[in-house]
Amino acid sequence: MIIQLQDKFVQQEKLESVSTDMSNQQFIISGFKQKLVHTRLKISLLKIAIKCYRNPLDWLNALHYLVKLRRRFLGDNKLHKLVYAGGKYYMGLYTPGWNSKVYQNFISSQLHDFKPVKQKVNRFNSVFIAITKKCALRCEHCYEWENLNKKEVLTTEKLNEIVRKIQDKGVSQIQFLGGEPLIKINTLLQVLKQAVKTTDFWVVTSGFKLTANNAKQLKEAGLTGVIISLDHFIPEKHNTFRGFKDAYFWVEEAVKNAIKNNLVTALSLCVTKEFISEKNLTAYMNLAKELKVSFVQFIEPKAVGHYAGKDVLLKQYHILILEDFFLKMNFNSAYNSYPIITYHEYYQRRQGCFGGGLKGMYVDTDGDINACPFCPKKTGNVLDDSFEENLNLLKLNGCKDYKIKTN
Ligand code: SF4
Repeated sequence: MIIQLQDKFVQQEKLESVSTDMSNQQFIISGFKQKLVHTRLKISLLKIAIKCYRNPLDWLNALHYLVKLRRRFLGDNKLHKLVYAGGKYYMGLYTPGWNSKVYQNFISSQLHDFKPVKQKVNRFNSVFIAITKKCALRCEHCYEWENLNKKEVLTTEKLNEIVRKIQDKGVSQIQFLGGEPLIKINTLLQVLKQAVKTTDFWVVTSGFKLTANNAKQLKEAGLTGVIISLDHFIPEKHNTFRGFKDAYFWVEEAVKNAIKNNLVTALSLCVTKEFISEKNLTAYMNLAKELKVSFVQFIEPKAVGHYAGKDVLLKQYHILILEDFFLKMNFNSAYNSYPIITYHEYYQRRQGCFGGGLKGMYVDTDGDINACPFCPKKTGNVLDDSFEENLNLLKLNGCKDYKIKTN
């Protein structure tokens, strides 16, 4: 019955999206529709557990493990909304769309931590790969500030090799960043085309050069989504933060072109001390909703790159405002029509960090591995024969700020 209703709903959505504008192919679902999809999603988790284990007791314990894992990140807050895009449903920016093969493999890989599973699992959840040092912007918080616009080290061939080596280990999601990755659109397209489609691919961009044609080509090459940086709802303030007079113009262009080409679309906000207030956050989310993006990502400033040596770390009262706002937007049904917020530091403070070589890492513009873009400490190169040892060392050092919690 539930499945029939669900299918009917999806059919209806498809008809609506065909008969109206293309941009309608990406939207947020909530209420009864969301509950139906969520129920079906839970059934699919049981199916994955059955595939992973022979013993029925393990199936139940596996489901219990997944519930516990989710609770560690989000407590008892219940899911109220999902994003529908390109035929899949997304719970968060870092979880593959349900019910793709990538999603199923992502879940089996999490279950492997509960008890080893029969099939091959992914070594990584998310890996960031910086494909270029080139950038036209001069952002206040740039994490690659010391390397910007220096001579390139990674050729297209080397990038292909890096992606291949990481995919060989198994990875659910790769995010390409830079510099500005879209300055190297041809490289990006070639890398996407040669990659195996067992991973969701995303681009993290200022929006610069995300023209309609580039968005179309990226979608055709297999890109899942884009994360576009927008650091203020007032155009002039965003332009100042980004050190580029056309920065806001490109954000609007990029969002429009990404949605039109059915790329899952997110905005990313560096939540500075100066910005944080209920009023500003609300104005930002109103704009995000108006632009019809699916996700908003909060990133707390770190004293690295262009911010090195500066007093940018948030105080406890800033964090309290942000966390309350995050919970309200995501879990209070009055805000169901707003984009879903992803707030890494919220999860990290509760669960620890999955970066640092554990389930994620950052490959910089030299091909060197680091804990994450904001914890730069080169720990060997992906292209080294000793990649595995480098990786073990990275994992051993882990994240310096957020230690993994096990209970
Ligand atoms: S943060 Fe990104 S967009 Fe801004 S200057 Fe650095 S690389 Fe360029």
